This record gives sequence, C-alpha cells and structure tokens, in this order.
Amino acid sequence: MANCCIQITPSQYISHHHPCPNQGKYKRGEKWYCGTHDPVRRAAREEIARKKREVDNDMRDRVRILKRLAIKIHTKDLEKYKLVLKSSQ
Ligand SMILES: [Zn+2]
Repeated sequence: MANCCIQITPSQYISHHHPCPNQGKYKRGEKWYCGTHDPVRRAAREEIARKKREVDNDMRDRVRILKRLAIKIHTKDLEKYKLVLKSSQ
C-alpha cells in the first residue's frame, strides 16, 4: 500500500503543493487514493449531495404549494362564513 497520490493545492494556510499525507486505501488503476481523494467515493459523495439538494428543493416547492393552498382554503372558508352570516341575518 502506498500513500494517496493526490497533490494538495496551495491554500490560505499552505503556500506550496504537497502530497496528501493519508494512506492510500483505494487502488484505481496504478494509483492509490485515500478516502477523501478517491475519485469513486468523491463522485458518490457528490451524487448524494446533488440528490439531497434536489430533495431539499422539492420540499421547499411542496411547502410553498401547501402554504398557497392553506391561504386559498382560508380565504374560501371566510367566503363560506360570510354566506352563513348573511343567511342567518
Ligand atoms: Zn488523499
């Protein structure tokens, strides 16, 4: 087993490229990757994140529709009350 083959790009904290210090856990072709940098696991994580965003967006839409419906129902009820009031006068 070798170390992860990824070179970490410079960031706010590190000013030069340096190899990922993690042990390679997944072998893809000739290269080793750690759990963070393994392209397969990465793709799976991104897919999960995308699905989650989709579900979140869908939920938001549903809540929006339900709120709109609630307002409509409420308005309809008011109309009904008005009719009842009128007929009882
Ligand atoms: Zn790595």
